[in-house]
Amino acid sequence: MNQKVKKDKWVYTQCHRCQSECGLRAHVVDGVCMKLEGVADSSVGSQGGVCPRGMAGLQVLYDPNRLNYPLKRTNPQKGIGEDPKWEKISWEEALETIAEKTKTAYDDDPSKIIIQHGIVAGNQIIPYFFVPMMAILSNEKGGPIHINAAGSMCGNMGHYLNSTQYGAFCIFPDFDYCEYMIVFGTNAANGGFQQWATHNCAQARRRGMKMVVFDPMCNSAAAKADEWIPIIPGTDGLICMAMLNVIVNELEIYDVEYLKGRTNASYLIDIHTGKYVRNQQTGKPYIWDPVSKTAKPYDDYDIKDYALEGTFCVEGRKCVPSWVLMRERFLAYTPENVSERTSVPPETIRRIAKEFAMAAQIGKTITIDGKELPFRPVATYNIRSAGTHKNGFHTLFAMDLLNQVMGAANVPGGVVSAGVECWGHPDTHRPYLACKAGKDGFTQTAGKWLFPEGGFWPFRDPQKPKHDLEEMFPTAMEMLWVNAADRMEVLEKANLRTRHEVLINYATNALMNGPSPKIREAFYKDIPFVVDCDIYSNEFNEAFADILLPDACYLERDDWMGIQHSYHNIPTGVGQPWCFHTSHHVVEPMYERRDMAEVVVELAHRMGLTPKLNGYYNAELKLEGALALKPDEKIQWEDLCDRACRSHFGEQYNWEWFTEHGFISWPKKVEEVYWRPFKKDVKTMVYWEFMLNAKEKTHEIAVELELEDYWDWDVYQPMPEWTPCDAHLADETQYPFYTFSWADTFHSNSNNQELAWIDEVSVSNPYSYFVNINEDTAKKLGLKTGDHVKLESAAGYMVEGYLKTRQGIHPQCIGIMGVSGHWAKGMPVARGKGIHFNQLIDFSIRGMDPLTATVDILVKTKIYKIEKQGEGHEAICCAGGIRGGN
Ligand code: SF4
Repeated sequence: MNQKVKKDKWVYTQCHRCQSECGLRAHVVDGVCMKLEGVADSSVGSQGGVCPRGMAGLQVLYDPNRLNYPLKRTNPQKGIGEDPKWEKISWEEALETIAEKTKTAYDDDPSKIIIQHGIVAGNQIIPYFFVPMMAILSNEKGGPIHINAAGSMCGNMGHYLNSTQYGAFCIFPDFDYCEYMIVFGTNAANGGFQQWATHNCAQARRRGMKMVVFDPMCNSAAAKADEWIPIIPGTDGLICMAMLNVIVNELEIYDVEYLKGRTNASYLIDIHTGKYVRNQQTGKPYIWDPVSKTAKPYDDYDIKDYALEGTFCVEGRKCVPSWVLMRERFLAYTPENVSERTSVPPETIRRIAKEFAMAAQIGKTITIDGKELPFRPVATYNIRSAGTHKNGFHTLFAMDLLNQVMGAANVPGGVVSAGVECWGHPDTHRPYLACKAGKDGFTQTAGKWLFPEGGFWPFRDPQKPKHDLEEMFPTAMEMLWVNAADRMEVLEKANLRTRHEVLINYATNALMNGPSPKIREAFYKDIPFVVDCDIYSNEFNEAFADILLPDACYLERDDWMGIQHSYHNIPTGVGQPWCFHTSHHVVEPMYERRDMAEVVVELAHRMGLTPKLNGYYNAELKLEGALALKPDEKIQWEDLCDRACRSHFGEQYNWEWFTEHGFISWPKKVEEVYWRPFKKDVKTMVYWEFMLNAKEKTHEIAVELELEDYWDWDVYQPMPEWTPCDAHLADETQYPFYTFSWADTFHSNSNNQELAWIDEVSVSNPYSYFVNINEDTAKKLGLKTGDHVKLESAAGYMVEGYLKTRQGIHPQCIGIMGVSGHWAKGMPVARGKGIHFNQLIDFSIRGMDPLTATVDILVKTKIYKIEKQGEGHEAICCAGGIRGGN
């Protein structure tokens, strides 16, 4: 019998369907990928497993609805709902057109170009798109405008705080030792955690770690917790402040030694100005030494002790340690007076506060690898949600102070930084990152893992804006205000209106994943030339793109580093080795799909910018000597991956080695994980004095531009204070429901719903595509599961969907899964399913957090039954929901 021998191989790569970037092995038979499975021994992501989203990656590869050829728009009309009337074109035509229009704008004024990207999209080469594009398209006249389309609705309010306090983009509880974790408003079992964290959290729970979840919905994190405490959205900061009051002022439990030596709690504050009393020669803030009874600069070698209490006179000014002011600030927040607003009983707040403080075991130590360290096994945790409000920064500030007063920062059991202290691979000492004491003694982060480009502290001063207002928000990581309702009004007032000529968009469906598509429509329609590179024809490109490029997906491309390696997904803990995966194409890109990283190389070549691009890569990837790219050498992508690996790990660890082994791993040192006790001069800020200077400078610019009415100036405070976000000010009788979106387990980005397996699960799930409301509330309103309802916001935005009643949601709340409700023709599986929550968000400059430019995603609505889908329908698109009940 003549039996055909099949070509059978396994390929190491990585999943890029979410930020976890799990290691994958792909089984390929005769050039067809048959199966994806996890990589045993990897500490990254699922640590050997693959989640349902990852398994559905096969459908990303073989989806018949994927883009396969370059397309151009033939319908001159742009906007939501317009049919682009795509026409197939050659790559040559596409690249020539893009290069010519971009070069013209670059030569004239680079700020006429916008570089826009997303966070996670199934293609995931964002670092190889926007960073080099920003670099090569900058010249002496300036640089392009950068937009991270979803960033300011993500962890925007937290990353600067994390960087300043912990030196890291992301922070996590130390699951190896934590004994009491409080989660605020994050569905930590999926959306909020990387998969390694979910695994380690589950192990910590098995070990006995207590988990308390404050959340308006009993989501999958709350369902796995010891205690779910329903809370009114946007009030988490009140709970934290009341807990701080109970712990500090009533129980008087706090880590005195930590506060004295490792924070600025002892820095002397002028009681009239709120600013540090500084040494007039050196500018260094003073502390009071109660032993010598003198004021000394904070880093004086001869400090015997630090005063946390008392009133002093230094440099002719009456002053107190900042800790005195902090304690006074907390006094205003008692469990009794925050109870009504949060809906959490005062006795619950007191009990949780006491449990948390007692669990911290202040004074206790632990010995790990022969090193005796403070043991503080408590942690608060949040990413997004609780902070995605106008009061977001102050909420997270208060939340972190709970850790700080317990001394639980970068010590065993507390909150630890992801990948900020790394001494590198033993052979090369790369990548090397180390925190140090910066201005005024505070944590100066070395940068992100593999991108040690400098940290966030000290903040830059606010500047008078040149094109947009971005320069006025030095504490904002992402600035989405280009999509604000009042943007044009503000630009005209400030005489700043810029005409953007070219938008290059990569891997973000900016109409779906940001606020207010209707407002965004006006902005994007105004741009004469829009290029998009994606794997689907979606809502954004159908509305605005002139040219649409078919991107290779992550299973069709090589990648020496995923974006999240440098930001999010570095497992913490001594038992979690450093682990560095590479991605390798499982199959060659099908049809005419191309890898965007290579498209960037080609565009640079056509625009005569290859030397700039090569210079960027030489610097960024540390390509030196024989590894360095020559100025005019055209980059071959696999060759660049090879050089990057050799540069970081040594000659023997070349691309071939990584192709064979998939990842490299080496042990972590205790000093890398719990770095703070080893760096006695590095301090955190419990009192953010610099906010007062930031306020003065920002206000000065705003007055000059006649924009001061757009800011809420009271939020520039050195200590946390809770203020209501706009939803809390809406008319309670007309719009009684706090309406929010939540992260479902099976979804991690807006194109996930296009995958048939995920769709099948979501359709079967009784909650995913429905308007979720409390069962008792629904009864009072005469509503039931399956009713077709309309939600109307105070600002007049509306969506429709089908109702699902449940007990596990706060009676004053309505929950909608984000992001669903697609309407693009190019996404036929997802189309018409679920509700597009973001249509309810009324995004304005006055409505965002002025400190971090975070979009407030809480909406106050009314709800009522409508008989027929589409009746009185003023929403932008279908926003339909699927019919059904339980
Ligand atoms: S979707 Fe995320 S968690 Fe799931 S396998 Fe992929 S990277 Fe891992």
